[in-house]
Amino acid sequence: MTDQPTRHVPAGLPGRIQHYIGGKFVDSADGGTFDVLDPVTNEVYVRAAAGKAADVDHAVAAARDAFVNGPWPRMLPRERSRILHRIADIVESRDARLAELESFDSGLPITQALGQARRAAENFRFFADLVVAQSDDAFKVPGRQLNYVNRKPIGVAGLITPWNTPFMLESWKLGPALATGNTVVLKPAEFTPLSASLWAGIFEEAGLPEGVFNLVNGLGEEAGDALVKHPDVPLVSFTGESRTGQLIFANAAPYLKGLSMELGGKSPAIVFADADLDAAIDATIFGVFSLNGERCTAGSRILVERPVYDEFVERYAEQAKRVVVGDPQDPRTEVGALVHPEHYAKVVSYIEIGRTEGRLVAGGGRPEGFPEGNYVAPTVFADVPPSARIFQEEIFGPVVAITPFDTDQEALALANGVRYGLAAYVWTNDLRRAHNFAQAIEAGMVWLNSNNVRDLRTPFGGVKASGLGHEGGYRSIDFYTDQQAVHITLGPAHNPTFGKGA
Ligand code: NAD
Repeated sequence: MTDQPTRHVPAGLPGRIQHYIGGKFVDSADGGTFDVLDPVTNEVYVRAAAGKAADVDHAVAAARDAFVNGPWPRMLPRERSRILHRIADIVESRDARLAELESFDSGLPITQALGQARRAAENFRFFADLVVAQSDDAFKVPGRQLNYVNRKPIGVAGLITPWNTPFMLESWKLGPALATGNTVVLKPAEFTPLSASLWAGIFEEAGLPEGVFNLVNGLGEEAGDALVKHPDVPLVSFTGESRTGQLIFANAAPYLKGLSMELGGKSPAIVFADADLDAAIDATIFGVFSLNGERCTAGSRILVERPVYDEFVERYAEQAKRVVVGDPQDPRTEVGALVHPEHYAKVVSYIEIGRTEGRLVAGGGRPEGFPEGNYVAPTVFADVPPSARIFQEEIFGPVVAITPFDTDQEALALANGVRYGLAAYVWTNDLRRAHNFAQAIEAGMVWLNSNNVRDLRTPFGGVKASGLGHEGGYRSIDFYTDQQAVHITLGPAHNPTFGKGA
């Protein structure tokens, strides 16, 4: 089902987007800019400063100075926590405006952008609470030694983020990096720099000391690359495509940096015949079409047990056809416009490939009534064999592949038969099968009879090509800190004596 677009352009869009370095908004050293497009018209609506190595040098120097000489790493956790809570308060109080801008820049439906703005606030609140509650290990060797962990911030963290839910994903790195006392240089995705440019004002208002947060806009191969290769950036947290992650790994290797990699996915949703089919259909529709399908944990492959396969496919296709495509700013919209014409072209090319690989039962490209903009109708392919490219490769759009299976073993082989391993969703009312199956899946995160509902204390991350390292809860604290072991001798010095031979 489609809806006629009603255009809404937010008031007060910036005239240009700059870097923010050492507490000041600045242009690129060489004056370079890049175009930012509105995904509904694909017209340039603003130009952003295109950072290069010189700008990254400048930002890292400011962050390094704030780390070495500034108050932030030395403040009590409670003091940092107060500022982080103020950041969360400000984000919450401006959630509607943030959502309006994010939706305009990224094409995400406004209601979903609002949810992401609130989640961004929650990320700050969560890590603000966590660092205050943080305790570290102490080990006693009775009468001999007391050994304890002295946890320290590491230095300048390089944060490189993608364009899907940009503001929220930035907060997922900024929250723990700042809470633990590091200073940061953020390089947001070049398709969606608008919401990232708002952090500076929010942080200033909350009282974050100057130089702690720095922002360099620009292309991945230029600004991102310079950040990865900067010798004064000892850790890089990256979220993006698996092949970019591979490149960053190689580029960071000579510097032996700490790396956290949140990469791509092709997550399965497995629906057994004994499942609550109504709930499974609703959840698997939302699981792949929410956030325009531009979601790392999207359940983009649905594996359905043969006895309910035909019914599932028919009902799923009918419901997918009723998903409301519309202007991202319209609160009725369920699927908005994809972020950028390049990404649109990629998604549409996969739909064309899918026509030769599976049976198209819903969607199939540009929806009626949307002659321009990056709109794609929710698209469903059934009978997709596991060898198909649309089964194996991340499409990152509103496109789903449905495949039948006959046995648990076959379902498991299908679920695990891709290079990715981010999330999985299992639908069954058999308790034993649910746990055994969930535990056998090669995925960093599994949800049983549930959509992707996050608990920020649990590990977040993927296995195989979906990532390396987990964040979430104390794992984020571990990534952004060094744990120095300090050993104290309680009795006489305990060592064999050398050099006192007769
Ligand atoms: P991308 O890899 O193209 O870009 C991500 C970021 O990396 C951008 O800021 C980009 O400018 C930068 N970059 C690109 N090349 C670089 C280089 N050589 N050196 C340093 N930085 C570089 O990814 P994208 O298209 O923006 O995002 C979509 C991808 O992100 C999908 O694969 C999706 O699954 C993944 N993703 C994963 C998670 C997760 O938590 N696992 C979350 C969201 C998105």
